[in-house]
Amino acid sequence: MGSAIFGQPVNSSNGDLALVGGTVYVSPTEAPIRKGVVFIQGGKIAAVGSRALVELPQTVRMLDCSGRTITAGFWNSHVHFFERKWANVAATPAPELSRQLQDMLTRYGFTSVFDLSSPWENTRRLRERIESGEVPGPRIRSTGEGLVPPGALPSEPVLGVMGLMKTPLPEIADAAQAASASRKLLDEGVDGIKLFASSPRTASLPESAIEAAVSEAHRVGKPVFVHPNSGTDVLAAVRAGVDIIGHTTPSSGPWDDNILAAMKERRVALTPTLTLWKFYMRHDRISTQERITNTATGQLRAWLASGGTVLFGTDLGAVDYDPSEEYALMAESGMSFRQILASLTTAPAERFGESKQLGRIAAGLQADLVVLKDDPAKNLRALAAVEYTLRAGKIVYRASE
Ligand SMILES: [Zn+2]
Repeated sequence: MGSAIFGQPVNSSNGDLALVGGTVYVSPTEAPIRKGVVFIQGGKIAAVGSRALVELPQTVRMLDCSGRTITAGFWNSHVHFFERKWANVAATPAPELSRQLQDMLTRYGFTSVFDLSSPWENTRRLRERIESGEVPGPRIRSTGEGLVPPGALPSEPVLGVMGLMKTPLPEIADAAQAASASRKLLDEGVDGIKLFASSPRTASLPESAIEAAVSEAHRVGKPVFVHPNSGTDVLAAVRAGVDIIGHTTPSSGPWDDNILAAMKERRVALTPTLTLWKFYMRHDRISTQERITNTATGQLRAWLASGGTVLFGTDLGAVDYDPSEEYALMAESGMSFRQILASLTTAPAERFGESKQLGRIAAGLQADLVVLKDDPAKNLRALAAVEYTLRAGKIVYRASE
């Protein structure tokens, strides 16, 4: 039985809400509270504890969560707002935008995302429409346009088939270009920098260019993400000071001790994107698909064994929206439900400097919450079966009856 945590004096007003009767995972490491209550006031968590111990005002609106499970809101730390559906987002009617955000994110419990390359002006407008209260949606952080080696951008027909907007990405060949392109984006207000370390058709970014981008971003306290295509890319990026490795790299084979030790020493985090490989390989022979998937899950398993940090991330926008397969593959790599929950909540909140506001269910934190239909500790599939998603105490998704 969890103990009740009492917050500020209770003062019932419009918008207050109590989630009553569910199993509450206040964090990935603590014992769940059975028949719990989460009391929300003014968009924040005012109290959490067992039903018997939390005092609620007589008039408070209650949401029956009996038989349900309540966790902190989820993060997807690798998404893209680059599909054609987001083009000219300023002119899309609010109800349509709201449906698109539900389809992609809130119906699966995602209340925070990090967008790792998209047209920044457009993504910023999307965020503004959400933050103004016009459109219900998640908290969005974005790197804006990713920086690429010269000639790395896919051709127009390829972008068309992938369903993506035509977005010119800044090309960088050396340290000076990397520094100035990064400065420009940071001046325009992005939340981090994304680098594509190489492309199949062109040379890799020199380590000095990665270092230059890292130094500009770190100067203003922002993280740097890398898209690597091989273990060699991972090593170069880690040595140059990158913070988050955006993918596993199964096509170049298992990660050796050298790569893992460097990742560990520099305390990077990894978004595994395991589903992505299955999706890209879907036209290939089953034996090839299995080899690639096994290599990717093996890389994640090795990273976990070395104690590394994992942030849930799927390259969403390039793959199907349903995260069930990613959860299953993470479990196949040896992650427990609680480790997966940490990758969705506390790990990203800490990595992105938000752990005083987000990632746990505790008095004083933002009421970003997910109500699941079942307990994922018993059945992992429950992680993708959402009844309600709340952001700052407001219901932004409700499953239809
Ligand atoms: Zn991506």
